[in-house]
Amino acid sequence: MKLTFLGGVSKVGPLSMVMEHENTTLIFDHGMLPADPPEYPMRPPLVDLAFLSHSHLDHCGMIPSLVRMCDVNVLATHPTLEVVELLLFDSLKIADIEGYPKYYDKGDIKRTKAAFDLMGFNSKRDIGGMEIEVHSAGHIPGSMMTELRGEETVLFTGDINTKNSRLIWGSHPVKCDTLILEATYSGREHDDRTEIENEFLDDIDDVLAKGGQAIIPSFAVGRTQELLMVLDDRGYDVWFDGMGRTVNHIYLNHKGFLRSAGDLKRAVKNANPVRSNKTRKQAKEAEVVVTTSGMLEGGPVLHYIMDKRRDPNTGIFLTGYQVEGTNGDRLLKNGMIQDRGATIPVECSVKKYDFSAHAGHSQLLEFAHGCDPEKIVLMHGDNRGALAEDLKEYEIHIPVEGETIEV
Ligand SMILES: [Zn+2]
Ligand SMILES: [Zn+2]
Repeated sequence: MKLTFLGGVSKVGPLSMVMEHENTTLIFDHGMLPADPPEYPMRPPLVDLAFLSHSHLDHCGMIPSLVRMCDVNVLATHPTLEVVELLLFDSLKIADIEGYPKYYDKGDIKRTKAAFDLMGFNSKRDIGGMEIEVHSAGHIPGSMMTELRGEETVLFTGDINTKNSRLIWGSHPVKCDTLILEATYSGREHDDRTEIENEFLDDIDDVLAKGGQAIIPSFAVGRTQELLMVLDDRGYDVWFDGMGRTVNHIYLNHKGFLRSAGDLKRAVKNANPVRSNKTRKQAKEAEVVVTTSGMLEGGPVLHYIMDKRRDPNTGIFLTGYQVEGTNGDRLLKNGMIQDRGATIPVECSVKKYDFSAHAGHSQLLEFAHGCDPEKIVLMHGDNRGALAEDLKEYEIHIPVEGETIEV
């Protein structure tokens, strides 16, 4: 079997992997990294079938271009399909505003939607002489790992989290011969989640006690829902703004993919949605606002920050990874943001919390041992050497973009 990564293998970039086995060519994910400017994978060959692990742009962002080129079906779960559609339309809008190249149009998004072939967890399918089964990846609702059983068994993990979050259960190892494992947190560990949550909530209490507001920039997909559930513990006056609102609805329509639909439903019900400029005005006076975008690159979050930027009692609580060169990164390092070419100092307090939905180094090791493979291909990480060092008993592959390996 031959594997070629077209992108996102030696860093957390636009992931795309081609698998050639006998007469069948499969592709796993075909993403786009929403940086400035965006990054894309290499051009794919003609493929017979695509698998989409989950609805983050670095995995799904170039799927319409793939469908346009190869006219393939895309195997994925139902929540993935619905969130992907939302993100793709949003990406087109951003490309228009920012003047980025567009590799697909609205018609391609519609064709992509029609090309989806939906699978539930633990259901099976025969493809090209192999039996396919998909398993929960524990990363965001609907995220899947793909198991391919032929003469040998292969597992492609996509992004995984083995620990339970509020939103979904963690993933479990799957016995296989070849493990294609994400390595985003290779060499890095997460602190205890309960401790992080308590620190986050205590810091919000402090800001509110001083009369300030807690502004919580958040990714719309997965993170917003997780945060609403965390915040629900303390009964704050919470408002949420941006695309997370639509994602809440999608997830609540697919209850089987959640750990506790009841908890998410309650958290969403106890918070207030921003539906108009009038309600946004109300939200500006609220105790807590959860809003996109997570890296402060556009989105309603800038309205809230511009409103409170001179208030040292207000806290801006970053809840995700901040790519270098984004406003989130600037704010964290230099206490300023850029808006329409102007540099704007922000006097609010700023802090970042690790709400990552990726397995940390130890969990990745434990997962790999549990899968008990012969060979491991490490992908989607900029420090894969750290995991390779701790997995010496296996045959390890660390391919680079464009390289074809035989496993
Ligand atoms: Zn992801
Ligand atoms: Zn990823």
